[in-house]
Amino acid sequence: MKIYCQECGAGNSPESKRCRICNASLPAADAKPDYGKFDFEAKPVAAKEQQPPMYLLWSLALTFCCCTPLAILGIIFGIQSASAFKKKDYDRAERKSETTRKVLVWGTVLGFVMWIVIFVSGILD
Ligand SMILES: [Zn+2]
Repeated sequence: MKIYCQECGAGNSPESKRCRICNASLPAADAKPDYGKFDFEAKPVAAKEQQPPMYLLWSLALTFCCCTPLAILGIIFGIQSASAFKKKDYDRAERKSETTRKVLVWGTVLGFVMWIVIFVSGILD
């Protein structure tokens, strides 16, 4: 059984008195083991390493119901965002993702307006 350093979390053999990494004094081997809180802690992924959303499903949904030109723009910007991310151009990927979102919001709003206009003009006719 290993004993874990309370300073740096490194595992040390039970007979060692001091940590092999940071030289802090270790608890006795028969003390209750402190199961490496450091070892199991998930490292948070930096925001930059997360791919910004492509909104591809939204674009596709928009393509099939209304406002096709904006939906196609959405697909194009989404793909540009993803390819910028692959080239590790995170700022560009972020900007393109944001543009995609704006285009799709407009496409959705205009699509709704279009359908309402069609609906209303159908009633008035
Ligand atoms: Zn240590």
